[in-house]
Amino acid sequence: MEETTEIEEKSETGGSRNFIEMAIDKDLRDGVYDEVVTRFPPEPNGFLHIGHAKSILLNYGLAEEYHGRFNLRFDDTNPVKERAEYMEAIERDVAWLGADYRGEVLHASDYFDRMYDAAVLLIKKGLAYVSELSADQIREYRGTLTEPGKDDPSRNRSTEENLSLFEKMRAGEIPDGAMTLRAKIDMSSPNINMRDPILYRVAHLSHPRTGDKWCIYPMYDFAHPLEDAFEGVTHSICTLEFEDHRPLYDWVVRECEFERPPRQIEFAKLYLNNVVTGKRYIKKLVDDGIVDGWDDPRLVTIAALRRRGYTPSSIRRFVELCGVSKANSTADDAMLEYCIREDLKEKAPRMMAVLRPLRLVIDNYPEGQTEELEVENNKDVPEMGRRAVTFSRELFIERDDFMEEPPKKYFRLFPGNEVRLMNAYYVRCIGVDKDDAGNVTCVHCTYDPETRGGESPDGRKVKGTIHWVSAESSAACRVRLYENIIDEEKGVYNEEDGSLNLNPNSVEILDDARVEKALAEAAPEDKFQFVRNGFFCADLHDSKPGAPVFNRIVSLKSSFVLPANPQQGKQ
Ligand code: ATP
Ligand code: MG
Repeated sequence: MEETTEIEEKSETGGSRNFIEMAIDKDLRDGVYDEVVTRFPPEPNGFLHIGHAKSILLNYGLAEEYHGRFNLRFDDTNPVKERAEYMEAIERDVAWLGADYRGEVLHASDYFDRMYDAAVLLIKKGLAYVSELSADQIREYRGTLTEPGKDDPSRNRSTEENLSLFEKMRAGEIPDGAMTLRAKIDMSSPNINMRDPILYRVAHLSHPRTGDKWCIYPMYDFAHPLEDAFEGVTHSICTLEFEDHRPLYDWVVRECEFERPPRQIEFAKLYLNNVVTGKRYIKKLVDDGIVDGWDDPRLVTIAALRRRGYTPSSIRRFVELCGVSKANSTADDAMLEYCIREDLKEKAPRMMAVLRPLRLVIDNYPEGQTEELEVENNKDVPEMGRRAVTFSRELFIERDDFMEEPPKKYFRLFPGNEVRLMNAYYVRCIGVDKDDAGNVTCVHCTYDPETRGGESPDGRKVKGTIHWVSAESSAACRVRLYENIIDEEKGVYNEEDGSLNLNPNSVEILDDARVEKALAEAAPEDKFQFVRNGFFCADLHDSKPGAPVFNRIVSLKSSFVLPANPQQGKQ
């Protein structure tokens, strides 16, 4: 792989330019192109993941920056693996991310006629021939990195014969595997991709869009540059593994005689620490039933991130922080969490929810009485307003906010201790009820009516503040807490057999959590901070107003520190 040194450049607006922007700037300056057209070309053989999000946002971002166009094009040249379900999911995800493809979805299969014509042109120019070698033979003839390849016995067939055989391939007269169309380039090229690559293969397969019209299908390396060229794409941005294919890309668009051929530029794939990216692995988790579909909130497909509660802006921010580079690197998964925390901190209302409830009774609070307390929705954003929260004699608190025998430095509730009930009153623990097994089933307290709002007029301080919900005026709900599906101690892949090292406890389901009444009406995808517990999102599928189910997006605490100089735009 060739070495690239990238110099950072300041644009007129002062922002730093990445190497792709610098290349585009130059092309525009030199008059190679007078506009910028980019595309995202997914193969519809699975759901998109966070790596694809990077590619989508990069391509779309460039089109936007240069006031150009961005195309969404399905690379549906391989009829076996493609599924309509995937196409729908991909469109939904691209639109959700905010990459505007003007509602127009393009398909490589729409160009099959033109691709065929391009192949005929190559044959006529003496640059393509019909081969009768089997796949194994072609591989064998291809040579190795150290040995040149051998000529195909059909390499010097006449143009007339090639045209007639290629027509027979198209007409369905040739069985699968019996013939291919190969480019005539150079069997001794040091780049194996240039040793007479296959352009077309015979496959009697029905295609979801073209039906039985075709029984020959173009190979990726031939189809892709043509698709770009037909659409007037200027900069075909792809990942590094295609770097060695670039000479072939250039050969195809040159020999097929496009006036302003597109240009391929490669960048490094996005990888994440401790995270399964890679369609193949995600598909296996889905197929093996280890996760609940392609959008299981433990995955990093775009649909899963959405269901977990990530926002498009948090994903955009993450991709920006990762930067664009030519060198492979791995981003910290904590950075993704950092981005959603930062995004929701000031957007999500802060509510009270008790995940593992323990009953608390205030013995000196009048029976049957309730009161409404005014609470800020987000103390950092006063414009988010206030709401009323019902306070009553019986409450729920978190089970671990009480200890009968506390260790040192435990400042929450224990017998004799006084704490603040958030936004409400000071309460002091005066006793507990227990079941036959000795488990605490209820905590008894007294409250100080003078401390309404959470401050004491006599200046008395408490060291602990705990949250709560009213026993009567709260709703029961299901809460799901997620952990990495990967066993982080062992790493993603098992070294012996390449399988995934799974964490058997990646989801914890809490069925008797209690939330403030207002949360019961949450609509799917509504996002909240549950104070002291993290950010949560009402599940897209399972949550209904009146019967909410919340997914924890991310906890509140982070050890992640944003690097002073994030790699934006650099190596
Ligand atoms: P996977 O490697 O997960 O199987 P793929 O490359 O097979 O993905 P395609 O549908 O062929 O998926 O890719 C669509 C586009 O997304 C391509 O341009 C590809 O280079 C890009 N892409 C795929 N994975 C990543 C990644 N991890 N980071 C950045 N771009 C990616
Ligand atoms: Mg692929």
